[in-house]
Amino acid sequence: MKTLITNGKIVGRKILANNILIENDKIADIDYKGEITEDVDVYDANGAYVMPGFIDVHVHGGGKSDFMDATKEDFETVVKTHLKYGTTLLTPTAMTATEENLKNFILAYKDFKENSSFSNFTAGIHLEGPYFSGANSKSKGAQSGDLLRKIDIEEMQRLWNLYPNAIVRWDAAPELENYDKFAEFCQMYNIIPSVAHTAATTEETLRAFEKGFSHITHFYNATTTYHKEGQKVLDGVVEATYLTDDVTVELICDGKHIPKGVLQLALKLKGVEKTLAITDGTALSGTDLLKGKLGGRKNGTDIIVDDGVAKLIDLSSYAGSICTMQKALKVLVQQYDIPLTEASIMLSLAPAKLLKIDKMYGSIEIGKKADLVVVDTLLNINCVMKDGKFIGDI
Ligand SMILES: [Zn+2]
Repeated sequence: MKTLITNGKIVGRKILANNILIENDKIADIDYKGEITEDVDVYDANGAYVMPGFIDVHVHGGGKSDFMDATKEDFETVVKTHLKYGTTLLTPTAMTATEENLKNFILAYKDFKENSSFSNFTAGIHLEGPYFSGANSKSKGAQSGDLLRKIDIEEMQRLWNLYPNAIVRWDAAPELENYDKFAEFCQMYNIIPSVAHTAATTEETLRAFEKGFSHITHFYNATTTYHKEGQKVLDGVVEATYLTDDVTVELICDGKHIPKGVLQLALKLKGVEKTLAITDGTALSGTDLLKGKLGGRKNGTDIIVDDGVAKLIDLSSYAGSICTMQKALKVLVQQYDIPLTEASIMLSLAPAKLLKIDKMYGSIEIGKKADLVVVDTLLNINCVMKDGKFIGDI
């Protein structure tokens, strides 16, 4: 199977007008000048931008389903919803929950991976919790306070054993006891240990980096930075992150969680390949609903949409987003003045690098998977391609 995309503006480190030849599921040529034989399907991009498919490493749901609903069908709904908005790969994200509910989530992922025709749209699972600071902590965000608990390596092992190698990222608060054992466990199983929902100081965070924590979950949200408590001045995760070059960050790019100047600062100090765009999308992403649940229909927390963002019903905290990666693209380029080439790296290459799958994903290069998004000059999606196939109305 061969497809030739003509008249596209390919978004890489530069934007180049070129033709892309796709053979089966891979990019075969990006400056194709050969003959167009009968076996080649031609798609005329009409001057639109051709971007690498978006990779979302922090997403809870979409299309009225949450991954914590824990069925193959709900996983498919979320994947299909975000696919319409250009996400060709994602890591299903679990909320803090009981061990039983985390187990259900992992087993649903197993069923989805083994039995769904959409299994190639996911790249492992992400556990956001449950090892965060206590119920009264300001940093818990929308995580269920009474389910937060101490780091429990035996529980981690039991969860890992349910579907070995499925967990690719695990978030914890590094000020907790046994943070070093948590990092050790993650490294042993090739899991990315990430700092999240934390009250850590700079010193505590730097200590955690030394032990292997290497990523910051929704940077600036539910993390610490310079502030005053009475007469005391304190520092936090933000400072440690800027002091440590290797550490990567992800930012919720819904235009609400992170103001423009903060995003531009993170980009400047961390560099574009270490600054990922995420949605942190909930079941409300890709819908026009104004209320729903975060963390599943049965056990989730009630959330409402207020001012374009998901919040707890008492409005005490943001509770994820209603964002899609296409919305993130628009926010970055149209509201935050980030060049399209850089926004593309934040949406595709940087997350591919975090997951160590950039040999196959994240940019338009010969030999990589043909996961593509074609967008017009207003950044509306014309079409999406996954593994060399155009996605119709699904
Ligand atoms: Zn989240």
